[in-house]
Amino acid sequence: MVVTDTQAQPAKQVKQMADADSARLAELFRDLHQHPELAFMEERTSGIVASGFKALGYEVITGIGKTGVVGILKNGNGPVVMYRADMDCNAVKEITGLSYSSTKTMFNSEGIEVPVMHACGHDAHITWMLGAAKIMAALKKEWKGTLVFVAQPAEEIGAGAKAMLQDSMYNKGVPVPDFLLGMHTVPLPVGKVDNAFGERMAGTDQIDVTFYGIGGHGASPEFTKDPIVMASNAVLQYQTIVSRNIAAQEVAVLTVGAFKAGNSNNVIPSSAVLKLNLRWFNDKTRNTLIEGIKHINEGIAIANHLPADMYPTVEIKTTAAPLVNDKAMSGKINKALAALLPGQDIITDRPALMVSEDFHYLVYENKKAVYDFIFVGIANPEAVAKANKDGRQYPFFNHSGDFQVDLSAIPLGAAIGSTALLEIFRK
Ligand SMILES: [Zn+2]
Ligand SMILES: [Zn+2]
Repeated sequence: MVVTDTQAQPAKQVKQMADADSARLAELFRDLHQHPELAFMEERTSGIVASGFKALGYEVITGIGKTGVVGILKNGNGPVVMYRADMDCNAVKEITGLSYSSTKTMFNSEGIEVPVMHACGHDAHITWMLGAAKIMAALKKEWKGTLVFVAQPAEEIGAGAKAMLQDSMYNKGVPVPDFLLGMHTVPLPVGKVDNAFGERMAGTDQIDVTFYGIGGHGASPEFTKDPIVMASNAVLQYQTIVSRNIAAQEVAVLTVGAFKAGNSNNVIPSSAVLKLNLRWFNDKTRNTLIEGIKHINEGIAIANHLPADMYPTVEIKTTAAPLVNDKAMSGKINKALAALLPGQDIITDRPALMVSEDFHYLVYENKKAVYDFIFVGIANPEAVAKANKDGRQYPFFNHSGDFQVDLSAIPLGAAIGSTALLEIFRK
């Protein structure tokens, strides 16, 4: 990749500024890591973000979609560029053994006390954003336009971006973006970036299916309609939707992640709930999955002689569309990043991931906006080499208790974000 002087110069300057800020950023990161907060409970984190923006002279709007924070820097005529970082953590127990490990527990939305940890790197996302906010404010002479930073709640439950929109963020003074940028940690070695165009992440639905029956004594099933048996049948039949109804060339996943029914050994309960997760890349596949679930449910209801008012119900709780990076925007950013990282470290041929995001919902109804979502390597390179030697591709995964952001990824992420932002502002 050819790097021109106009790209090399700012990238070098940005790298120096991020490195000079690395002690402060590492401290901020460790603090966020020790104080993880679950979806829509990011009170402390959003407070840190808001005061960080204020100290840098950004216009700040707080409390959008409960805990969302926006920082705005107007700097003359030019495009509106939005950069989004997510704030929430996971209900995962940390086992990294790091001195700054999370030992925290929280009460989740169902009132159950759970161990919590930043096992998806959102603590790094917030640190990168605050590092980039400082660099972009200091380099105001190098760009023209409006910069909008968004600290979004509740990405893990796929609800935060929609909550900010439903809270009318664009009517509360948040400028409507022309470009949207986001970055996410992945267990690639520090220094590697995965930024390709086209489909990058799957669409998803979270669906609850409830089977209704007639409860009774475990000794007399003939007087009952057993919802556990019905739901058990459904779990196995659902697996035939992907294998028998969707072409082998298409991609889809249907996972039953939870099965909730009953409390006793000898009581047949009156209902059973299945919690499903779907992944897909187009509406046709999504419809096949959802219709398939409904048909199987109905078939089971008929086989059990249930009256129509006792047929299983299907509740689609959240949906996110596939994430599709813009070709021109990702290409432009990769050219700029080549001044920061060796060309071979900018990966453009990794297949799309089956995991999902709600990032692009910030511009979902804004058809003129384009977006790019960059995966940034955060794993210690030696840990990756060791894993490779043991025959494993990655030393750990997101959402695992041993997930660990190497501290060298902290200033580098701020530099990557700033370099990408400067490049988007460049005409
Ligand atoms: Zn996650
Ligand atoms: Zn995440």
